[in-house]
Formats: sequence, C-alpha cells, structure tokens
Amino acid sequence: MRIVLLGPPGAGKGTQSARLTKCFEIEHLSTGDILRTEVSKTTELSLVIKKYMDKGDLVPDHLIIDMIKDRVSNTAGFLLDGFPRTLKQAEALDTALEVCNQPLDVVLYFEVNVNELIERLSKRLICQSCFSTYNLITSPPISKGICDSCSGIVAWRTDDKPESIKHRMSVFNDQTFPLIEYYKRRDLLKKIDATGDLDEVFIRIKKVIVG
Ligand code: AMP
Repeated sequence: MRIVLLGPPGAGKGTQSARLTKCFEIEHLSTGDILRTEVSKTTELSLVIKKYMDKGDLVPDHLIIDMIKDRVSNTAGFLLDGFPRTLKQAEALDTALEVCNQPLDVVLYFEVNVNELIERLSKRLICQSCFSTYNLITSPPISKGICDSCSGIVAWRTDDKPESIKHRMSVFNDQTFPLIEYYKRRDLLKKIDATGDLDEVFIRIKKVIVG
C-alpha cells in the first residue's frame, strides 16, 4: 500500500498517520519529522532548514526531494505525510515511483474548516524526541509534559505561533492546494471529512481505503 496524505496544517495528518501505518503495517514517511530530526543536529544544512521552518515557509524543493527520493524508492509500502507539497515535488515523486514501478494507490485529502484547524493548532503539542503529537484537551499525554511513547519532553511546536500558523495556511492554499487537481486528474484523490472525533475520522479513512 502506497498512500499520500494531503491537507492543511492541523488537519490531523500526523495523528491519523500513526494509526494508519500501524493498521496497514507500512512505513510512515513524514517530511516534517525528517526535517525536525535534521534540525536537531545543528549542521550547516540544519541551520538553513530551520530558517524556512520557523517562518512557516516551505523548504526548497531540491533539498526535500533529495531527502525523500531514496526513501520512497527503497520502501515497498509507505504513507507519505507532508510530501508532496508542491507540483514540482509531486512530479519528482511520480518519476521516482515510475522508475521502481511502484505507483501510488491513493491520495487522501483531509478537509477541515479553518476555525477547527486554528483551534487544533493552538492546542497541539509535540514530543521533542519522537515527534508523537498530542492535543492539550482531546488527547493529552498521560503524564503532563512527558511523551507516552518514549518519555521525551512534550511541548508546543515552535512554528505553531499565531503569525506562523496564518502564513502556513496561505502557503498551503498557494502551493499545495493545486495538487488536489493534479491527483484528481490521475484518479487517485479521495476526500476525507477530517472534522470531529479522531476515532470517527479513522473509521471514515479505513472505509475509503478498504471499502
Ligand atoms: P509539518 O510537520 O508537515 O507541518 O511540516 C513542518 C514544516 O516543515 C513545514 O512548515 C515546512 O517548513 C517543512 N516541510 C515539511 N514538509 C515539506 C515539504 N514537503 N516541502 C517543503 N517543506 C516542508
């Protein structure tokens, strides 16, 4: 199974990815997590990446494509969370998958209204070590500030500040939204109502995937 998740920041891609990868036993490839790991190393490259991420801008295509290309080519089943985000990335993904003859099965587009997105992002917490995500109200860690999975520190994301959230929404509308038409034309796109209860959203997704 090769799945792409598309959706604005706060649509629940990370949360549902964790459930889907467990359920279908496929690898979770989150470009956000890959970049956060890179940033935690404090290299020359990480300083460049951090600048883009802190502003809520997309990291340049050539950097992210180089990081993800080999991973998708060497993995039989995967869920791409946060990639592609531009047409150039989508075309690069198509080329990489064509070469290894492993086409995508489905692209899930998470639809959530803007008020719910802002509400979710303002309550979102992330583990600084394994990047598991939590919601302060609906799904907090069992022990305050401690990750259930790895006992790492759970805190706010540095790019979840109000000004950066607004900017990331507009980046999504300008650069990522055109991918919906791109995948519709390839007959791969399935829309998911991603509002409300997380368990219900997961049931909706599974219905779309397995019928
Ligand atoms: P995410 O965790 O998916 O919300 O990603 C966090 C940040 O990482 C984004 O705001 C971008 O700065 C960067 N990022 C993640 N995925 C990509 C991508 N496919 N292309 C460019 N930048 C990305």
